[in-house]
Amino acid sequence: MTTALALGRSPAVVRSAEAASGAPVALATVAAILHGLDASQRRAVTHGDGPLVVVAGPGTGKTRVITRRVAWLIAAKRARPAEILALTFTEKAAAELQGRVDELVPYGYADVMTQTFHAFGDRLVRDHAFELGLPPEPRLLSRPAAAGFIRERLYDLGLEGDVRLGDPGRTALGLAEAFGRAKQAGLPAERMEAHAGQALAEARRAGESLGEGAAAVIGAAERRVALARAYAAYQRLLLAAGCIDFGDQVALAVRLLEQHPEVRRALHERYRYVLVDEFQDTDAAQLRLLQALVGPQGNLTVVGDEDQAIYGFRGALDGAVQAARRTWPMATAITLRRNYRSRRPILAAAARLIACNDAVDAVDTPRRPLIAHRRARPRPVRCEGFATVEAEAAWVADTLAARAATGQPQREMAVLVRSNRDAQPFLQALNGAGLATRSSGGGGLLNRPESRELLAFLRAAADPASTLDLYALATAEPYRLGGSDLTTLLEMARRRHRPLWDVLRELIAQPGIARVGDHTRAAVERLVDDLEAACEVAHRRPAPEVLYDHLRRSGRLARLARQPDGDVSVRAVVRLFTVVRDQAAVLPDQRLAFLMPHLDLLADGTGDDQEDDGPLDAPDAVAVLTAHKAKGLEFSLVVVTGLAEGRFPVRSRAAPFELTAELEDAEVVAGPRAAPHAEERRLAYVAMTRARDELILTWSERARGVRIARPSPFLAEALDHAPVRLHQVVDPGAALEALGTPPADAASTSPTPPAAPRELSFSQLDSYLTCPRQYCYRYVTGLPTPPHHALVYGSALHAAVAAYHVSERRGHPLSEATLLEAFAEHWQSEGFLSRTHEEARFAAGQAALRRFREDRLASGAPPPTAVEAPFSVTIGEDRLRGRYDRVDRGPGGVAIITDYKSGDVPDGRRARQRARDSLQLALYALAHQAETGALPALVQLYFLTSNTVGAVAPDLGRLQRARARLTAAAGGIRRGEFEAAPDPATCGGCPFREICPAAAA
Ligand code: SF4
Repeated sequence: MTTALALGRSPAVVRSAEAASGAPVALATVAAILHGLDASQRRAVTHGDGPLVVVAGPGTGKTRVITRRVAWLIAAKRARPAEILALTFTEKAAAELQGRVDELVPYGYADVMTQTFHAFGDRLVRDHAFELGLPPEPRLLSRPAAAGFIRERLYDLGLEGDVRLGDPGRTALGLAEAFGRAKQAGLPAERMEAHAGQALAEARRAGESLGEGAAAVIGAAERRVALARAYAAYQRLLLAAGCIDFGDQVALAVRLLEQHPEVRRALHERYRYVLVDEFQDTDAAQLRLLQALVGPQGNLTVVGDEDQAIYGFRGALDGAVQAARRTWPMATAITLRRNYRSRRPILAAAARLIACNDAVDAVDTPRRPLIAHRRARPRPVRCEGFATVEAEAAWVADTLAARAATGQPQREMAVLVRSNRDAQPFLQALNGAGLATRSSGGGGLLNRPESRELLAFLRAAADPASTLDLYALATAEPYRLGGSDLTTLLEMARRRHRPLWDVLRELIAQPGIARVGDHTRAAVERLVDDLEAACEVAHRRPAPEVLYDHLRRSGRLARLARQPDGDVSVRAVVRLFTVVRDQAAVLPDQRLAFLMPHLDLLADGTGDDQEDDGPLDAPDAVAVLTAHKAKGLEFSLVVVTGLAEGRFPVRSRAAPFELTAELEDAEVVAGPRAAPHAEERRLAYVAMTRARDELILTWSERARGVRIARPSPFLAEALDHAPVRLHQVVDPGAALEALGTPPADAASTSPTPPAAPRELSFSQLDSYLTCPRQYCYRYVTGLPTPPHHALVYGSALHAAVAAYHVSERRGHPLSEATLLEAFAEHWQSEGFLSRTHEEARFAAGQAALRRFREDRLASGAPPPTAVEAPFSVTIGEDRLRGRYDRVDRGPGGVAIITDYKSGDVPDGRRARQRARDSLQLALYALAHQAETGALPALVQLYFLTSNTVGAVAPDLGRLQRARARLTAAAGGIRRGEFEAAPDPATCGGCPFREICPAAAA
């Protein structure tokens, strides 16, 4: 149901051709596409049919090759855009790839499917839920939500006895990770159970000959059996709850393609060319998905570099590129060796380092060093050692400050750390030296102060008698209690052996019990008021509503609205809000008391490691990034810090539930946990090769009070000599002063104004046209909005209707009971005014669906030709992307597009008027025209609650006006024009009216 348009592309136009629509469009010539490529790049781009493996080291133009290849396939007329599928691993990478393709491929040709493996798998699983035995729209559990799901059902997994049920949170996280790894490895529960059972039988048979060691061997085998049974039970519980998890998105897609040749054939016909970027990050399940996906002609292009494989700890294959060569032995192999980024000494040091992996990496062909394209003015790689991390940070800050003073842009400098927790001393020292910083987060958004304060609020609302949580809340915004007054109140609580909560309430009831200032008294009153209100709501309403209510009451929502766009504190609050909603959604009871154990788990930071902390393309500021986050970026000057033993390389930790034996028995590739040191070396290699002109390596003997450490072995390997003198801290006072300077917030020093979105959904467009300020609050600042009953009602109806149409298309229309089940599955008890209100809406939805089904059966109409069909087209300067609810073919094959509305429009006349006035329908008609070259014969709104339909033929005048409106809105968004447009009618229904200074009364 979304429509989107791409904003602001510059055409790479050379000549004209006929687009699929029949309208003339500009098309880049083959010559223009190949311009500036070296011989190897050109060979890769113009490879004909059959598999192609491109090994592309850092700085060799990997992205250039993959995007130009897409453009070349289209320009050379080897494939239409819709026949090309480009896969990668993160949403961010997919968006970047899409953006680069858009720049090369002219308007009207941008329908290349660019997706992550998981998004692609998810679509397949949903489209074929019936074949997979799943409910029509299974609920997706994110990784943290899967851990919450397991924790809630820990005692249903049959684990009693030997696993750590004493720490259910950690156990749940460990199990979620183990099950996820098994799915990534392509190991289904039934196979794991069979292998574990066999291992136990063998252990028992061999028991007698093992003597004293028998008990340990049998015990280990029994634990394997327990884990495998838990895995199988988890899968059953997921299915019963109508859920799939992150791993299932790919694992189930693999099963679908392997077991349903007709689906496989359809995909072979649809995607004639498949390309994969960053192939070294592929896991075993993704490799199997590709095997099934690539048609008999084997038109697969993979681009990757084994030396940059740094995600083994997340389950990527050990030797994925080699695995591709083994899987497609006829593949043409091309190695890109010319590095256009780094000067020679940097590449030489990096090459010496990575060559030390020769002994452990599973390479079939010897590694050949990169050739430096930039040879002029080489600077030697420096290495500096220090006694303490504080001295190391102070030296780095001084060095970068001196460079900045000579005019070197700060955005061209980067300080790379091994993990987020190593960043703090460098952020403090850099800020102390007057440099702006932008960082990859301080241990995840959930560890930011804003998130911690809100977690403290949730804990205190669940249990106000928890003095620790109440203290955390009281000292934070907006109450800011502190000083001797708070000490007095805490002391009273201690003396009376009572919680702080009792003392605060008593202070209000009997002001004379303590001598505190007026500010404290007012703040305590406000705190007690807010918390009592929250406790009240917490017993009745779902947890997300409690949090939203607090954001609003405490004024935090209004403060967030005033933050600069892209502010990291806003992102942290939005992230926490999302986590609360996701976690609550999988609980049988969504109230706070039931949610808190799950949130405690996340607050420990263990569940948030997948979170992308957001854009880093900030204005002039030094980047302080983890080496992982730096992948894909480059800077003129790079300092790789913390190169001490135990810190880089880090010592690997054993997973709570190891799967090594299971994976070996199942003969799947075990992943690089077998050689964690090699992966750390690759990470150091990635870090070093981010530098264009200058590379500095630093280390210190002591960090975080840890024992004295030696230099990292990577230093000697890279430098080819022993590392270096230790600097002394010249002025400990200055260093301490620098450390005492609180780090300026990444956002406060360098707000990151997000670029105008490439795509706008229809809701975004509608929001902008209603009030640009409202659009800004919602889509630019990213403020959360309260759950609203109308949305719950509408999405549950939509999901049920879509499920019905999908079943129709399969020739087995849903029974009434199954249709109502689908409705119930998508129902959320959120945002209703009361229980009675919710029950009334639920009953209304059921009645609407019954009527819809009866009418549909009585009409004898053929199934729709498309349901929830995505489209991607260009209109004017902008691209429209969206989804039609339903498309039918009328007499003579003409198209009829239907959009479902949950509303209540009493008669056909008014329904027709609504359809005539609908901007959304006009956009759909334009999209259809751009896609197929013809307007649909009819566009219609189907109002489910009243069962009325308004159908109209597209009107050219209205289409023209719709086009003008979207162009104007897109332009306004591009220019950042977000003026408020107050109007009593719109402000009355605006979720931001309480914080918007311009709201009309
Ligand atoms: S309250 Fe009114 S003026 Fe303010 S954002 Fe909402 S619609 Fe716009």
